[in-house]
Amino acid sequence: MCIFCKIVKREIPSNIILENEDFLAFHDINPKAPVHILVIPKVHVESFHEVSGEIMSGITPFIQKVAKELSLDKNGYRVITNIGEDGGQEVKHLHFHVLGGAKLAWSHLSDAHPKEMI
Ligand code: 5GP
Ligand code: ZN
Repeated sequence: MCIFCKIVKREIPSNIILENEDFLAFHDINPKAPVHILVIPKVHVESFHEVSGEIMSGITPFIQKVAKELSLDKNGYRVITNIGEDGGQEVKHLHFHVLGGAKLAWSHLSDAHPKEMI
């Protein structure tokens, strides 16, 4: 069983922000911003590339609710999901990073020059 499935089943402790029947939001163990939350579906889905439209239509208002409860909606925030090796996905259970609480940088995503990738 994957680490986030264990968090869903309370086999691993986490600092939970919000939960409903289908989704869970908890603090990232290694925050990269003043607010860094992970939002996951309770059912195991490997990544965004495999997720159904039904889960996406449920998780979208759930993420919006998390952002509102943490007062991120006033100044803005960022939602990121990493997919696979090039995307930098370490945990193979779909999760959305919700980052905020400060002006976030948007500078350096890859060592490869953008023009080399076109
Ligand atoms: P990824 O690199 O897969 O997009 O992000 C995985 C995230 O999960 C990382 O930000 C990492 O800090 C977080 N993480 C990994 N293991 C745990 C854990 O056991 N508990 C919590 N709360 N976060 C975790
Ligand atoms: Zn899982």
